[in-house]
Amino acid sequence: MSGDPDLVTTLWRDLLIVPMDGPRHAPLGEVRRADLAIAGDRITGIGALAPRPGDRVRDGCGKVALPGFVQGHVHFCQTLFRGLADDLPLLDWLRERIWPLEAAHDADSVRASAELSVAELLRGGTTSVQAIETVRFTEETFAVCGRVGLTAIAGNSLMDVFEPGVPDALPCDAREALRISEELCDAWHGEGRLAYAITPRFVLSCTDRLARDAAEFARARGLRVHTHACEHEAELAAVHARFGAGYLATLDAQGLLGPRSSLAHCVHVTGRERALLEASGASVLHCPSANQKLGSGIAPIASYQTAGVRIALGADGAPCNNRLSALTELRQAALLQALAAGPGAWKAEHALAALTCGAADALGLGDVGRLVPGKRADLVVLDLRDARLGVHRSERGEDVVSRVVWAADEAAIDTVLLGGKEVVRGGALLECDLGSIAARAQGALARVLTRAGLAR
Ligand SMILES: [Zn+2]
Repeated sequence: MSGDPDLVTTLWRDLLIVPMDGPRHAPLGEVRRADLAIAGDRITGIGALAPRPGDRVRDGCGKVALPGFVQGHVHFCQTLFRGLADDLPLLDWLRERIWPLEAAHDADSVRASAELSVAELLRGGTTSVQAIETVRFTEETFAVCGRVGLTAIAGNSLMDVFEPGVPDALPCDAREALRISEELCDAWHGEGRLAYAITPRFVLSCTDRLARDAAEFARARGLRVHTHACEHEAELAAVHARFGAGYLATLDAQGLLGPRSSLAHCVHVTGRERALLEASGASVLHCPSANQKLGSGIAPIASYQTAGVRIALGADGAPCNNRLSALTELRQAALLQALAAGPGAWKAEHALAALTCGAADALGLGDVGRLVPGKRADLVVLDLRDARLGVHRSERGEDVVSRVVWAADEAAIDTVLLGGKEVVRGGALLECDLGSIAARAQGALARVLTRAGLAR
C-alpha cells in the first residue's frame, strides 16, 4: 500500500468476492470469502487482511462483490426522450421520433440528458460505458461524466447524409463533422477516465467520403470506432440498395472494421459477412431489450461466443428499452440465448462476463472488469439475503451467479464504488440531487419538444 497519508483507504471485511478473472470459457475465477483493501482508486489487496490505522472499515458479511458493470452501448443524449418513441420499428423509430428530437437538442438539454443517464447508470451499478451521442454538444456529455469520474468512451454521431426523414438541422457536412471530432478529441481524449471514439451513427448516415476520412482520423489518433451494424432487416436492404454490398463489407471497405471497432447489435450477420466479422476482431455490443422492443430479432450471441468474438452488453438508448439497467440486460441476454440457442448454450457466467471482464476486453479497458489487486476499485456490492433470490444454499460460484443473473434486480444493489469512492450506499445515490436533476430535465424536455414542434 502507498504511504501517502492523504490517500483514502478502505477495508471491506468478509465479502464474498466474484473476481471474474478466469479464462474465457470459465470466467468467474475463484469465488471466495475474503477481505478487500482499497487505497485511492485501486484495489490493493484481497485475502485475510487486518485493518490499518486510518482505514475506513465496511462490513461485507452476507454481501457479494462483483466488478462494476461495463456497458458497451448507450446513448446519454436520448435518455431525455424515454417514453417518446414506443411501438415503432427501427427506421420509423429514427425518422419519426429520434432524429427530430435530437435535432432539437441544445447544450442545456444534452447536459440534462447526461445527468439523468449518469444517475441511473450509477444507481444500477454501471461504472464504465461506451456511448454514441448526437451530432453536436457532446462536450456536455463528457463534462458530466468527467465530473463524477465515470469511465466513458464517447463520440459525436457522424451524419452527413441529408435524406428524406432526416431533419435539416441534424446532419452536418463531412468537413464540419470532422472539425467537431477533432475538437472533442483534443479536449477530452485521455482526460481523466474519458476517451474519445469515432462514432458514425450507422452506414446509412454517412457518405463514403466522411466514413473514409473518419476511419483515417481514428487510425492516425489511435481511437476506437463504435457504430451500429446489422440491426434490422429493413436496414440491411437499404445498405445493399445504396452500396451494392453487405453491411460489414461496406464498413470494411471504408476502413471502419477492425480489432478496435465495436458494433452494436449484429442481429443479422450471415454467410461471408459472418466470416468477415470473425476475422476482423471487432467486438459485438449486444442490446437484448432494444432488439426485442424494436422487433429487430435475436442476435446469435452463443455462437459468437463459440467463435471467439468479444461481447459486451448494453442498454442502448432509453427510448428503445426503456431502462438503462445493467441487471435487466443481463437477464434478458441470458433469456434470449436460452430461447434461441437452447438452455446452457450460453451459460449464466458467460452472460455475466459480457457485463464485466469480457465487456472490458471488448472495449479495450484494461484496468476495469475484474476484481484483482491493481485494478481500479469499481465495485458493485449486492445483498443477496432475500429469499426471493433463492434460499441460501452455498457460496459456490454457480449458485451465486445463478442468483445474480436470473433472479436479482436493482433492489439487490447495496453499494457501488467508483474508483474507490462510494457513490451508492444502502441502495441510495450519494452526492446526487435527483430532485434538481429531474427538474432540469423537465424544463429542458419542454423546450426540446417546443423546438421540435412536438409540444402538446
Ligand atoms: Zn444505439
